[in-house]
Amino acid sequence: MAEKTDLPILGEDKTKTYRLGIMGGTFDPIHNGHLVAAEQASDELNLDLVLFMPAGSPAFKQDRDVSSAKDRFAMTLLATADNPKFITSRAEIEREGITYTADTLQILRAFYPKNVELFFITGADALLEIAKWKDSEKIAEMVTFVGATRPGYDLDKIQVELEKSPIPFKVFYLEVPALAISSSELRTRQAEGKSLRYLTSDSVIGYINKHHLYRARKDTGFSSTFQAALNNPTIFSEDEQKGIEQIEKDAAKQLEKKPKRLAHSLEVGRVAEALAKQYGADTKEQFKARIAGILHDWEKAASVEELFKKAKTIGLENDPRLENIKLEDAKPLLHGFIAAHTLKQRYPNLTEDMLNAIALHTLGAKDMGFLEKIIFIADTIDPTRGPLPRLVLLRCLVGKVSLDELYFCCYRENIDYVIATNRYLLPQSLDIFNALVKKRSELDVSPSA
Ligand code: ATP
Ligand code: MG
Repeated sequence: MAEKTDLPILGEDKTKTYRLGIMGGTFDPIHNGHLVAAEQASDELNLDLVLFMPAGSPAFKQDRDVSSAKDRFAMTLLATADNPKFITSRAEIEREGITYTADTLQILRAFYPKNVELFFITGADALLEIAKWKDSEKIAEMVTFVGATRPGYDLDKIQVELEKSPIPFKVFYLEVPALAISSSELRTRQAEGKSLRYLTSDSVIGYINKHHLYRARKDTGFSSTFQAALNNPTIFSEDEQKGIEQIEKDAAKQLEKKPKRLAHSLEVGRVAEALAKQYGADTKEQFKARIAGILHDWEKAASVEELFKKAKTIGLENDPRLENIKLEDAKPLLHGFIAAHTLKQRYPNLTEDMLNAIALHTLGAKDMGFLEKIIFIADTIDPTRGPLPRLVLLRCLVGKVSLDELYFCCYRENIDYVIATNRYLLPQSLDIFNALVKKRSELDVSPSA
């Protein structure tokens, strides 16, 4: 490790002693509890530096999926970047296998000269366990522990406990403003769509959102391969990647007052991209699916009245796709058609099939092109709609049935839903459904169903 280490140099002046704080943890994600504990330890004990070392494969957390070391390292780096005394090291994450604190400390002890004292900062919960750690006697010789308060733990009691241990741990007890924050809580909050603001740095929140960490993905019904495709979006060209970021930003602005709708739109983009891939599209088509998905609900910020007015202004009643439909009856579908109209002006690069997919995402049609079906399906099965049993069933079909069959099943689900919620079902929707039924029976998919 010594030859290619990122550990900061300390202890050069042999006439002086130095104090190095070490903050180990999973940091999945790092939060203000970690940062406050480190800062106060540094302040109280006059530490020269505090080394944050995200764990590789943590010994104590084998029971859940820990985020990748790359993500945990990046978040720790972002959170500590503005504090000159905080340094984030890759030393632990680069080690293979389970990482034990004892091994890490041994490496550090070997790396730093004797005039560097090591302080291992831990929360009260971890302090309670130190006697059980691997090689705890060796650890006790190498470091002074700094035990920081953590809600739910009484430092006095821990002190009594540790004094019973035969191992002579050196512990400095530190009362820090007890922050009732844990990484687990942040993960849960993120999965539930709750705010993380003021619990960790804005830069970390930005990273979590950008990389879709901690999203509730369980029990949505998708197969593990489709789920994996969703979790690992296609790497597009740099220009395309930038294009997606810009469109996502524009959508965020447009739907700023409708955060749930925005979350849905962004997710439909991802699902559409993954569906396109699943059903054999090349990256260009996947890119188009992603963009159309993000944009499909562009007009959802407008009220029905506003949309109705707009529909009149742009002469939507003459649109052949709405033939025989009174605008009055078509209110729930207007946002798609109007979005296609608005977006055509705003983004001249959108292709005809993208615009059509956006226009038709609610009404559908008898004959739909590839992208049109993809957006229609993605909108129906989007996981942000939750684990509703009927949607879980539809999601199970992804990759198992043809795209036409999936479209048919989604169409039927949408009709069912209109009826189940006592809303007016356009005769055209029924016509489309019947046409799909006929087509399907010709294909002999399921003649008697
Ligand atoms: P999880 O909820 O996943 O267990 P965590 O919040 O406990 O995560 P870890 O990465 O396990 O975070 O913790 C690293 C170190 O930081 C541990 O020593 C832990 O005790 C300490 N720590 C974590 N949260 C706090 C807090 N709110 N106050 C003080 N110390 C904390
Ligand atoms: Mg913990």
